Amino acid sequence: MICQIFFKMLNKVCVFTIPCAPKRMGKKISMKKALFFVSNWKMYLSYQANVALYQQYEKQLASTITTTGHTLIVCPAVSALATITHTKSAPFYLSGQTCAAYSHGAYTGETDAQSLRELGCTYCIVGHSERRVYHHETDEIVAHQAQQLLNQGLIPIVCIGETREEKKSSQTHAVIARQLTAVTKVIHASTVPYLLVAYEPVWAIGSGQLPHQHEVESVFGFIRTLTHALNIPPIKLLYGGSINQSTVDYLKNTKNLDGFLVGKTSIDVAAYKAVIQACSW
Ligand code: PEP
Repeated sequence: MICQIFFKMLNKVCVFTIPCAPKRMGKKISMKKALFFVSNWKMYLSYQANVALYQQYEKQLASTITTTGHTLIVCPAVSALATITHTKSAPFYLSGQTCAAYSHGAYTGETDAQSLRELGCTYCIVGHSERRVYHHETDEIVAHQAQQLLNQGLIPIVCIGETREEKKSSQTHAVIARQLTAVTKVIHASTVPYLLVAYEPVWAIGSGQLPHQHEVESVFGFIRTLTHALNIPPIKLLYGGSINQSTVDYLKNTKNLDGFLVGKTSIDVAAYKAVIQACSW
């Protein structure tokens, strides 16, 4: 289900096409809560393999998404976005994996937010820990990337989370507060219907290790209190890190959970379908 929110920003009329919570009508939509599933394909696959995987998604996941009412957001390699957007027919949303912190200019190798919009994206990940670590993206850069997306009417998926060392020294809440506050200082609150915030403990990504459910609930509660105090738009809270068929059951009932950001498992269509179905009851 789609709703459109029109708003004026920077003297331009921008259009957000965003998914809305499905109406619980008849027997078709049977799950307890409609969730967001963000599929981060990273740089796992070549251009051709991205296109082929997207075709598999359309064949094998479209009806699951329609009947469950969940929202599926696909983050392919940027090289495959144009092809996918031109052949796309399923009710999935497209997302970038990162974007430039500037609108345009002499920034070799970067992808600007406007191009992501023109390539059919509705969302874009910012602040993924792999970008923070390997590309030295600071909290401030992440904030400017988010603002570039908002300027183009795209919804940022802001990734935050602590490293193992930070967790061991009880810094989790302090790290999250620092990362989120940096973003909220820069973005203009009135310009977005909601933000997706993905809590991804760095030590849980790709490691097979999960936080305890009560730890995720505590972080979610902390984020809610913080964002309320910062007066930013509504946020949807995702969890990311080592979600697969065997781990999803442990976290799917987490209080305040609005969805999952899934890396490795999202390139295995059968396993990913099982994850989505496990959350449809
Ligand atoms: C990620 O990279 O954001 C992620 C959640 O990866 P994985 O699911 O592979 O741990």
